[in-house]
Formats: sequence, structure tokens, C-alpha cells
Amino acid sequence: MAPDPTATGATRYYGAVEAGGSKFVCAIGDEAGRLLVEERFATTQPGPTTATLLATLHRMTARFGPLSALGLACFGPIELRRESPRYGHILDTPKPGWSGTDIVGALAREFPVPVGFDTDVNGAALAEHRWGSSQNVEDLVYLTIGTGIGGGAIVGGQLVHGLLHPEMGHLYPRKHPRDADFPGVCPFHGDCLEGLAAGPAIIARCGASLQQLPPDHPQWEIEADYLGQLCASLVLTLSPRRIVLGGGVMNQARLLPMIRPRLQHWLGGYLRRSELLGEIDSYLVPPQLAARAGILGALALALQAL
Ligand code: ZN
Repeated sequence: MAPDPTATGATRYYGAVEAGGSKFVCAIGDEAGRLLVEERFATTQPGPTTATLLATLHRMTARFGPLSALGLACFGPIELRRESPRYGHILDTPKPGWSGTDIVGALAREFPVPVGFDTDVNGAALAEHRWGSSQNVEDLVYLTIGTGIGGGAIVGGQLVHGLLHPEMGHLYPRKHPRDADFPGVCPFHGDCLEGLAAGPAIIARCGASLQQLPPDHPQWEIEADYLGQLCASLVLTLSPRRIVLGGGVMNQARLLPMIRPRLQHWLGGYLRRSELLGEIDSYLVPPQLAARAGILGALALALQAL
């Protein structure tokens, strides 16, 4: 049996895996949220991607020593019910080839340590809560706007799972008047939020990414409106004390200030809280951990698993 590192006062090492739709990030970290080594590779088909993941983790543990726990923050939808025979599997996903992949099983067979498993966005919410923008905020939502749209929620200090896990990106917004003819690109719903406002939707509608469009292009206003509607829906349903907006599309710094007034518009003056009025700049915020929110989310899940 492996010696318990804490018995000798040695550092405990945690494996962290961010499984994203376009890339995997694999790291070893410690309890303070420090990443000691980090590697990334493209997400291809499940077989070769998993093989690369396992080889990378074995190489890292050969250098740092055995892991105390592993955290896996994964694109969804995923099976999180421990009692299900499909626990740890990726469910029906628009990502070609990945539906039905037993991603936790692949890790657990080679690394017999506790594995924390959750959605990438729940992981990012946990990391922002633990080390980032939302320390001491017990009710928050983390949204990512990138190749898809997803959201993770912490309510009363706990991650929300429920029946499956929240899938906020697939809510249907009211269509913007200047976007009436665009059918959306979500393979499940067409014109849900992800189908209208994620990166691939912008490219399908405009033939270019948001970054490539001039500031006076109508897409900016359309994008801000849809994301404002999403935030308003979350304020009305989950009553978060903060909403964090991350992901590749949000890297365009001028977008966030455009979303805040659209959130207020869609609330229609109904909720008279200072946080939603004069203090909205500290209510709707970017992730303080920036692009590291995902991998630190995986590390936070490993710490939680132990
Ligand atoms: Zn959808």
C-alpha cells in the first residue's frame, strides 16, 4: 500500500483534468490552488484522446509521485448519479463520437484514488468560489460562452446537480427582431441560446467570429441581447448574488458592458436591488481566474473528492 504523504508532512499532489470540446488540459496541483505542471492537447476521438490523457498523467506522476485524488471537469451532458450504471459516462452529446464514453472509468482503472467528477462549468464555478471572483459569495452562477454555452451554479455554498445538472445554455430566448430569419445551429433545439449565441452560431450567421466583426456590426447588439436574456432568466430562477461570464466569446472585452443594460432591460425594473442597478458592474463580472478557471475547477473537484 502506498504510504500516506501527510503522515510525513509531505505535500499532497492532485491530478486535474479539464475535458473540453476542443482541448484537454491536464495538470498536477496542490491544496493552495497552485498548478505545478500543465499540458494541453486537442480533443479528437475518444480512444486516442483518452490514451494521450492517461500517458500524460502517468508521465506527470512519475515526476511528482502518486496522486491523492483526481478531479475531472468535463463537457456535458454527463451522468453524475453515483447509483447509475452509467455513472462517469458522457451522455448524448453533439460532440461527434463522444456519446457513451466512460471517461471516469478510464481514469479510475489506472489511478485508484478518489475521483471528483462534474461539469466543466460546475468546476469553474467552484474554482471562482474557492480562489477567484466569488470568494465569500455563497450563491453564484458561472457561465461559459464559447464553442457552446453552459452554466454551473452554486446555491447556499453547494454545487447544483438535481436530476442531471443545469444546462442553462439550452434555454430558448425570445428572438431578436434583427435575427428573425436565423434558424440557429443547436442539433437538438435549433434556436436555443447555444444555437443562437455560441461561437459556431456567430460564424454560421455572420461568416466570421465576433472578434473579426467591426464594432458597429449588428451581431454585437444581438449577442449582448441574448446573453442579457440568459442572465435575466438566471436572476429570476436561481436568484444568484453574482454571475461570472467566461469563455472564448467573452474574451471580447467590450461585450460584457453591453450585456449589463440588456439584463436590466429584460428584468423590466421588476427587481429593485442595488446589485442589479447602480452596482451591476460588480454583479455581472468576468472570471478572476480568467482562462485558468477550467483547470482550477478540476483541481477544486479533486480536493473536494478527498
Ligand atoms: Zn440546444
